[in-house]
Amino acid sequence: MAELPPCPQCKSSFAYQMDALLVCPECGHEWNADEKTDDTDTFIVRDASGNILVDGDSVVTIKTLPVKGSSQSIKAGTKVRNIRLVDSDHNIDCKIDGFGAMALKSEFVKKA
Ligand SMILES: [Zn+2]
Repeated sequence: MAELPPCPQCKSSFAYQMDALLVCPECGHEWNADEKTDDTDTFIVRDASGNILVDGDSVVTIKTLPVKGSSQSIKAGTKVRNIRLVDSDHNIDCKIDGFGAMALKSEFVKKA
């Protein structure tokens, strides 16, 4: 079982968990246990060099990427502005001039 943090109000170590909240039996304080461990359920997207990408970043493709349903492909070195990160296999949503809305894999881009 995970060790629960002490009560932030009275430092009691007898806090217990009730649903999403931690409850202190000594002072009655209730607080959200998830507030301090906020990176456990957020996803992190890294580019080909391991840089962390965030919403709104601009990236450059590092290899030519075929486009489903199009005879054209996205050439290496294409700049992609204002990306949006999504928690899936193709983890970058973006719009590319001449192609429209696309989903890319972060391993094929580099932060611009
Ligand atoms: Zn307390």
